[in-house]
Amino acid sequence: MAKFVYFFGPKGTEGDASRKNLLGGKGANLAEMCLMGLPVPSGFTISTECCTEYFKLGGKFPASLKAEIADALKKTEAAMGMKYGDPANPLLVSSRSGARSSMPGMMETVLNVGLCTATIPGLVKKSGNERFVYDAYRRLITMYSDVVMEKAEGIEPAEGQGIRVQLEKIMHERKKAKGITEDTDLTVEDLKYLCDEYKKKIKQVLGRAFPDDAMEQLDGAIGAVFKSWNGRRAISYRRIEGIPDEWGTAVNVQSMVFGNMGDQSATGVAFSRNPATGENKFYGEWLVNAQGEDVVAGIRTPNPLNEQTKNDQNRHLPSLETDWPALYKELDGIRVKLEQHYHDMQDIEFTIQDKRLYMLQCRNGKRTGTAALNMAMDMLAEKLIDEETAVTRVGASQLDELLHPLVDPAAEKKAEPVAKGLPAGPGGACGQIAFTSQKAVEWAAAKKTVILVREETNPEDVEGMRAAEGILTARGGMTSHAALVARGWGKCCIVGAGEIKIDVHAGTMRVGKHAFKEGDYLTLNGTRGLVYEGRLNMIDATENPRFQQFMTIVDKYRTMGVRTNADTPADATVARGFGAEGIGLFRTEHMFYGEGSEKALFQLRKMILSSTDAERQTAIDGLAPFVKKDIKATLEAMDGLPVTVRLLDPPLHEFAPGTAEGQKEMAKALNTTVEEIQKRVESLHEVNPMMGHRGVRLGITYPSLTEMQIRAIFEAAKELKAAGKNPKPEIMVPVTCAVNELDVTKKIYDRVKAEVAAGVEVPYGTMIEIPRACLLADKMAKTAEFFSFGTNDLTQMGFGFSRDDIGGFLNEYISQKILAADPFQTIDQEGIGQLIRMAVEKGRATRGNLKIGICGEQGGDPASVEFCFASGLNYVSCSPYRVPIARLAAAQAAIKAKPKDGCGCCCSKK
Ligand code: PEP
Ligand code: MG
Repeated sequence: MAKFVYFFGPKGTEGDASRKNLLGGKGANLAEMCLMGLPVPSGFTISTECCTEYFKLGGKFPASLKAEIADALKKTEAAMGMKYGDPANPLLVSSRSGARSSMPGMMETVLNVGLCTATIPGLVKKSGNERFVYDAYRRLITMYSDVVMEKAEGIEPAEGQGIRVQLEKIMHERKKAKGITEDTDLTVEDLKYLCDEYKKKIKQVLGRAFPDDAMEQLDGAIGAVFKSWNGRRAISYRRIEGIPDEWGTAVNVQSMVFGNMGDQSATGVAFSRNPATGENKFYGEWLVNAQGEDVVAGIRTPNPLNEQTKNDQNRHLPSLETDWPALYKELDGIRVKLEQHYHDMQDIEFTIQDKRLYMLQCRNGKRTGTAALNMAMDMLAEKLIDEETAVTRVGASQLDELLHPLVDPAAEKKAEPVAKGLPAGPGGACGQIAFTSQKAVEWAAAKKTVILVREETNPEDVEGMRAAEGILTARGGMTSHAALVARGWGKCCIVGAGEIKIDVHAGTMRVGKHAFKEGDYLTLNGTRGLVYEGRLNMIDATENPRFQQFMTIVDKYRTMGVRTNADTPADATVARGFGAEGIGLFRTEHMFYGEGSEKALFQLRKMILSSTDAERQTAIDGLAPFVKKDIKATLEAMDGLPVTVRLLDPPLHEFAPGTAEGQKEMAKALNTTVEEIQKRVESLHEVNPMMGHRGVRLGITYPSLTEMQIRAIFEAAKELKAAGKNPKPEIMVPVTCAVNELDVTKKIYDRVKAEVAAGVEVPYGTMIEIPRACLLADKMAKTAEFFSFGTNDLTQMGFGFSRDDIGGFLNEYISQKILAADPFQTIDQEGIGQLIRMAVEKGRATRGNLKIGICGEQGGDPASVEFCFASGLNYVSCSPYRVPIARLAAAQAAIKAKPKDGCGCCCSKK
């Protein structure tokens, strides 16, 4: 029979940090902390496997669970010297979620479970603190009714009508009637009154009584945590983070210790280093006489942990360091011990009960990209980690943040901030105010940039937070859920900007004398916590020397090449600066778009609309100098590095003149009538242009066009060589499906090569972007000296999904779980991946040293980079700004593929 329950405590702990998949992150680390001898209240973890089983059984506990829980509860009682449900000496427990990968605030927790009519008097007697007991009771009633009786039952009340809000209203009214503002000012009588009123309200709203039996409470709390795995916000978070639905959550049932037992008790959250900047300072928040939820919910402004990390919001409040120095020292000692043990920044939760410290949680802390980079470099210097570990510590997509915009300091100097908050997520953001998550999502879908402005930090807003460019909240601290989640995503985020007064219903906000409405622009400086009215100029993050040092280490471990897709000398120069080792795709046709393209486009149009060979040849001759000039400039910018020039690809009709003026101009140039030009334009129309007259097919029908391009490439190289440069062009034929196409074009290549005698080697290769080309890759490799996977078209043709029209149905495919991700963003490894692997194998069977790359959009996606590495590709090519991401992803893939002695973390030493 499967074992579902694992005990942890001072003796007899059954799990450890290596069993995250089974025990969830929280359960595994609680066990590990017990093994380290840290002060952890005992308890037990119900495994993720049990969660899966629970759902399989249609929301029922497996038959063996009851006995296992009873057994673990006995051990817990023995360790704590108390008994669950006992009237004289009652033990209370918490029931908390804990998935394999942390999902902060996305699932549920119930505290103080086991408090009921039978156990209240005993706890009052034992604690000598009646107020504390009723405070714990009103919290249990609130959480339990919200989590177990409402959410877990699938009840979805209208906005503002949930049971929690209704109970909070009762408390608010009581406080108002008594003229008090703080929860801590409520007397025993107030709390007793609230508990009675709460229970009445619950019966009235939910039609069921709040359970007064300790065992019934425990069963309900465990089941509700399992069910919260399938709660709305947990599902949204999983979609965004790519966490599989099958994983399930563990449930941790842990003995309660109380931070709300009076003014000798407290609770707090801390990070062993600053999660926003990476600074090596113990960073955290704590509250006297409070329970955990108070710190993260932003109800009271928490105190700072120590003097050196005070900020403007909490400068006036005493720190743990000065108030309770001995406890601070103990906690700081644990911080060091944990970092030495886990070799990583830890996010910890602690409680102080009657001046005794307890650890409730530790986990690798979420951090911004900036913090990840700084911590990796610092820990490397401290010899806490080695180089390989440092390389894996920065998520490839996190690098994006480091290259992303900042508020222009010059513009900022001239502007006056309208509000100040806590700098929870660095960087800059500028966008339109949305007061609801729903609006943020809607506007982001309509391509607006959005600043989500909320009263307080609420994990329900996960989708809006994701969609927004920046997040601003009026309440909450640096450890609030919003701050945590935003940092994990590298979002610019400011929390606790107390001056802002939001009226969600009116869609307005006031900050001092400034009034804003939804849709108005704000600029946020998340690094400094400053809010500005309107739009301030943004700039790229300046060169960061630590970033460069980090990337130098990254390249030591990278074995696969990284090139860029660039069509202009300017893009090529940017990409070179980011470390591109060549151009993997130069799309020739881009010279006919945009600024300065008029003359070249005019010649191209003449060529397209010519009616005789002679006319066409004249137009092609007219086009040649433009093509040569463009290619030469890019070869020069990439001097010494390979430049893969792709022959013209798009359907010709894309370039035909559509306007009356353009047609008139063409009629004049070709000495004919506008009507005739219109007729020729119409004749170019194709029903399915993506599968029409494009790519190599253009060269098959107009060989002189191909010849002109190949000649331009050879001549440009020859001229550069003569000028002492080191040009390295490569010629790539697009949209091929048969080796014969390659052979026809190769004849032209050979002839021009002999004629021009450029004196440089120019490899001849093809794009692989049609499934047939994959199937026949062994034949294609007879002529092609290199392959480059065009995974945009390969995905389009492999799936039969038009790359331009997928927007119409993709969301449904994702939400109905038909596809796990957009295959145009990340390679569909299961399907298209097979085609790629087959083509690699077949191609190299013919030509052992066949060089193979990828130049579709997926080339800059970390998961696709890893796939390309595993498939034996020589390089990936992506847009300039994604080059550092691809470099890091390639290095991480190489490190991951190396055989390891252990798992590389703390558990390898066991
Ligand atoms: C591709 O198809 O993947 C590719 C790079 O070519 P294009 O996007 O220009 O069709
Ligand atoms: Mg293509």
